[in-house]
Amino acid sequence: MAELLSGYSYDDSLIERGVFEFPDGDVDPDEDLWGADAESFSRNSLVSVIGIEYTSVCQHHLMPFTGVINVAYLPSGGRVIGLSKIARIVWKYSRRLQFQERITKQVASYLGNVVQSPDVGAVSEAVHSCVSCRGVKQMRSSTVTSCLLGEIRSNPVYQRVLFEGISGKKEMSND
Ligand SMILES: [Zn+2]
Repeated sequence: MAELLSGYSYDDSLIERGVFEFPDGDVDPDEDLWGADAESFSRNSLVSVIGIEYTSVCQHHLMPFTGVINVAYLPSGGRVIGLSKIARIVWKYSRRLQFQERITKQVASYLGNVVQSPDVGAVSEAVHSCVSCRGVKQMRSSTVTSCLLGEIRSNPVYQRVLFEGISGKKEMSND
């Protein structure tokens, strides 16, 4: 019982004892992450990666959630990043105890720093086992979080790209 209740607070020992595993949690995607100069890119054309899958563990309930995240940016800072590197940024922030909302914000802001652009967006949809298996038992409910910054926040065309494939049964936040 104590073990169940401990899910309501952060407890490293659960991971140390192998109750929860992060087999690849030590991966550091920072290495080799920096992109090339964006000479051949138009600074006004959107770069997007849609449908990056991830699995994480809810920090409140210590139960897994799985989802996809769409990310996009304008290379207005003159830098681009290899598309596979974006998946590694998602990896970096999902392979730990997390909240979906925070993953979305962290991915957007990290990407913005890497490409030195204020025009970044990330939209995520995930199914939380803490919602489907306990409490209100919403088996098919998904949660959508988004972080839209700069030009992307004010341009519905860019936002349509970012919300591609997102069914949005329940909007958790939009900021
Ligand atoms: Zn939860």
